Amino acid sequence: MILPKKIKFYGLRDISTMQLLKQNLSDEQIFEIKVVANVLPFRTNNYVVEELIDWNNIPDDPIFQLSFMQAGMLSKTQYNEMAEVIKANASKEEIRVVAKKIRNGLNPHPAGQMTANVPVMDNFIVRGIQHKYKETALVFPSAGQTCHSFCTFCFRWAQFIGDNDLKFSTDESNRFQEYLKSHTEVSDVLFTGGDPMVMSLQKLETYLLPLLQPEFEHIKNIRIGTKSLSFWPYRYVTDNDADGILNLFEKIMNAGKHLAFMAHVNHGRELETEVLRKAVRRLKNVGVKIRTQAPVVRHINDSADVWANMWRKQVNLGMIPYYMFVERETGAKEYFNIPLSRTFEIYKEAFQQISGLQRTARGPVMSATPGKVVIEGVTKINGEKVFVLSMLQARNPNWVKQPFFAKYDETSTWLEQLTPAFGEKKFFYEDELDEILEQKSVEHSSVVSSQ
Ligand SMILES: *Cc1c(COP(=O)(O)O)cnc(C)c1O
Repeated sequence: MILPKKIKFYGLRDISTMQLLKQNLSDEQIFEIKVVANVLPFRTNNYVVEELIDWNNIPDDPIFQLSFMQAGMLSKTQYNEMAEVIKANASKEEIRVVAKKIRNGLNPHPAGQMTANVPVMDNFIVRGIQHKYKETALVFPSAGQTCHSFCTFCFRWAQFIGDNDLKFSTDESNRFQEYLKSHTEVSDVLFTGGDPMVMSLQKLETYLLPLLQPEFEHIKNIRIGTKSLSFWPYRYVTDNDADGILNLFEKIMNAGKHLAFMAHVNHGRELETEVLRKAVRRLKNVGVKIRTQAPVVRHINDSADVWANMWRKQVNLGMIPYYMFVERETGAKEYFNIPLSRTFEIYKEAFQQISGLQRTARGPVMSATPGKVVIEGVTKINGEKVFVLSMLQARNPNWVKQPFFAKYDETSTWLEQLTPAFGEKKFFYEDELDEILEQKSVEHSSVVSSQ
């Protein structure tokens, strides 16, 4: 029997957060959380706090690391700068100015998302869409730009700090629908955020139901990228509109679309509660397919056993492992990043201990500027140790599945830090990529000046 739970948020300025922290942490730990949470977005909820975190294992508990700030998430200089203004009881405005400066140094929009992925139509920027790969468009519904609980490593952290210049979201004109209508090459629409599942049933319907009209016949797959399944499973079980959500999903599938539920799951611990299992069963009963994805992050899931165990649990629950990502170059990356060489070992060692049903996860993948670059392996060719790389998705579809090689090293954490192997000056796609980016940037600058 699962009793309904009402969501209660813990944020930086909630008194209940201070009470919770005082019960469990030292004054020093609380101060550290305060300092970092004035820069990076902090929010969690009563389910995460009461049912997922093991408070006897602080600060090492992976779910604690996933939802509560740690001092190491900022550099020493950044940390001290914020700590000083807080200690000096500075005004809100002074804190805001320091926060803004630190945030700008944290690469808020990695991989050229602001210009290179945002489309232009009839000389206007189409707000709330990213369209990088031909078949798949990302939609950022304006009402879905928050989450049930923020992840400390989130690469979309800039969406949640109330700075509109840094934010993607659809505007009132719903121009994004016109864009999707006229782009018949788009077969997949991925609703993302934030988290689209923070929206009420009514809001979700305004985004999803229009896609069932004949003008959107070309859209075959509706994907929902969400952390709600593991951070607020009550959404599908006891929340007031839980049944309505399931009916909506069923309606979408009855209209001949595939509803792909892309669940973000970082650790096997998230899959152990009764309410999670119930939520998964209810989604599956209406025919939703649940795929899973997450990055490898230090302090949370940087071990082969954690991944093998998590994938086993997922398949056991009827979920399909889809992507293992490399943590992106943004936010608290120094705290969370691990070298590509190590990430690959984790993937390989996890794969070596699981059955074929669990080997559907592709990875480790970098969502980098040219495309989704996967580390296929490490080997020696003519005496040179190399990373074998290829793209699963690319700005130019011709680049997909073309193997390429980088010098092996044990420190690089991202594509741009790698050097081409065999004395080459560039990777094979680089000239074409420069041209594509140049073209996009010209397109955007002409629009910006005409608006
Ligand atoms: C990963 C990603 C997609 C989806 O790619 P699939 O290979 O179809 O899963 C689409 N757009 C962007 C920007 C992405 O990063």
